[in-house]
Amino acid sequence: MAKPIITIIGSLNTDLITRTTRIPAAGETLITSSYDTGCGGKGANQAVACARLSRKKGSAAEEAGCAVNMIGAVGDDMFGRDLINELVSNGVGVDGVRVKGGEKSGVAVIIVEEESGENRILMSPNANYALKPSDFESLPDPLPDLIILQLEIPLSTVLHILALAREKDVEVLLNPAPAAQLPREAYLAVQHLVVNETEASIITGTTTQTHSWALWGEHMERLIGLGVRHILVTLGAEGVIYLDTELQRVLRVLGEEVAVVDSTGAGDTFVGAYAGALAVSGKGCRDFPHVMHVVAFANRAAAKTVQRGGVQSAIPWRDEVSLEST
Ligand code: ADP
Repeated sequence: MAKPIITIIGSLNTDLITRTTRIPAAGETLITSSYDTGCGGKGANQAVACARLSRKKGSAAEEAGCAVNMIGAVGDDMFGRDLINELVSNGVGVDGVRVKGGEKSGVAVIIVEEESGENRILMSPNANYALKPSDFESLPDPLPDLIILQLEIPLSTVLHILALAREKDVEVLLNPAPAAQLPREAYLAVQHLVVNETEASIITGTTTQTHSWALWGEHMERLIGLGVRHILVTLGAEGVIYLDTELQRVLRVLGEEVAVVDSTGAGDTFVGAYAGALAVSGKGCRDFPHVMHVVAFANRAAAKTVQRGGVQSAIPWRDEVSLEST
């Protein structure tokens, strides 16, 4: 049987991370405690999560449960080459990653204040914003079984891809991050919506904080009103709520009790794990007989990520995540 194909269309960024004892004042130069670089961007993170969680660490890419392809854009520079190489080393197909001459690769300059642990991030989308609707005359051939989209590329491109997917009846998972309100018809092309609490509030136009369970009725009603069949609201340490609006089924998976090192990228691991497990589940994989097992697996995979430092480097492989709840 042919392997399911998952195509991620989204951002690739280089993270430039400095740690300091405090944030410098205007005009001040501070010596950092440490400096690191990392491959990131929500698109690339989710592609790596999908690929790693589809196969054992150290196994050949051919042994993966699904084929994972990335479509995005980098600049013709050293960062761009590293971003592509990192995807390749994780078994992600990169034929769809365009190198945009005259553009720089996307960069996130991150300052971490050590004492408070607070981040300050300056994001330069660069080549990611050069990914235009005209880059997509059609969807890739063969058509993917699932397309994953986020909002770190131009909204016009996302809307264009959603229209193409709807025309060709290709399933779409949308992770609307960073959160933005989309036209209602955009959701007609979406079968799986994955949002964290902040994104849930922003896309439904609900200004209240969601940390109170009493408010969930209102949030859920608005989310259901978007017309997407599978809705997943990730709740950080509290786990995840899954809703099948067609079968009117709600599933609450509690968060794993873990020691948190760095929760950056937890949502991206969740998306990649859910998508990969869902795709093989649809092909009769016995590890995931029911969507409940898919959601619980993604919850455990994301909990692994928060126990490690870094973003892409913290994403676990398939054999590092158990099939049973702990
Ligand atoms: P995002 O990273 O997009 O803000 P969340 O913070 O909701 O998303 O985290 C996504 C998922 O990662 C959660 O649903 C959960 O499965 C896992 N997760 C995040 N933080 C923790 C934590 N402190 N303990 C256990 N699991 C966590």
